[in-house]
Amino acid sequence: MYTLGIDIGSSSSKAVILKDGAELISSAVVQVGTGTSGPTRVMEAVFENIDLKPEDIDYTVATGYGRFSVENADKQISEISCHAKGIFYLVPTARTIIDIGGQDAKAIALNDKGNITQFYMNDKCAAGTGRFLDVMSRVLEIPLDKMGEAHFKAKEWASVSSTCTVFAESEVISQLSKGLTRESIVAGVHKSVATKACSLVRRCGDIKNDVVMCGGVAQNPGAVDAIEKELGQKITVAPNPQITGALGAALLAYEELLAK
Ligand code: ADP
Repeated sequence: MYTLGIDIGSSSSKAVILKDGAELISSAVVQVGTGTSGPTRVMEAVFENIDLKPEDIDYTVATGYGRFSVENADKQISEISCHAKGIFYLVPTARTIIDIGGQDAKAIALNDKGNITQFYMNDKCAAGTGRFLDVMSRVLEIPLDKMGEAHFKAKEWASVSSTCTVFAESEVISQLSKGLTRESIVAGVHKSVATKACSLVRRCGDIKNDVVMCGGVAQNPGAVDAIEKELGQKITVAPNPQITGALGAALLAYEELLAK
């Protein structure tokens, strides 16, 4: 039996195909999300190099901010449930999840059965999300995939104290004009994201190990380092962290099939 999980976020579209709820047949990521060509393109991409067609899929679960726009999905499930499912499948020792995506950040607490016991989400403000890092990447002229490298070269971390993305952008521009190094500002930007992520985690109660990070921002080792320092705790980055929501959706699709 084949199941498809499709995660349409604000910044990217992800899809995963599983055989019998266990074997990963294909996965794809397109770096544009809801309201764009992303959903169509990710569907094309996930079937591109395999011997399956969309009509071979037995059940599809859509998740993410744009999940209600996915045509032909059998069910929509929130990304909190899908990330929890995907992460617990990949890392069964996970008890705390930090998911930072394009326009929100979430902290999820799990018990030893993988059930969600608490979660908090910031989807009201761009600060502390991938969008904040996207803005800073542009201002600092450092591509997103080089932000980690720059972070580890910082001799000290600048203080980026503005809590609003627009004011923080002005603060960073002013620091650049005063001659602060781009590396120290990047580290300060990561610390700002870390402070916000950690306040969400702490609201879930005692921080239980293992702490696992997923979402696009988990691909930024500088952000992960800043969160580890802020939490005072080691973080496991989920393998292929951008697709854990789609993986969870495909796993939940298999459970739906079994329950039929
Ligand atoms: P969503 O699911 O909300 O669409 P994602 O989980 O895909 O969002 O995360 C998108 C964010 O991930 C972007 O805003 C960006 O900051 C970050 N990101 C994406 N790709 C990379 C990369 N290669 N290196 C560092 N950060 C990245």
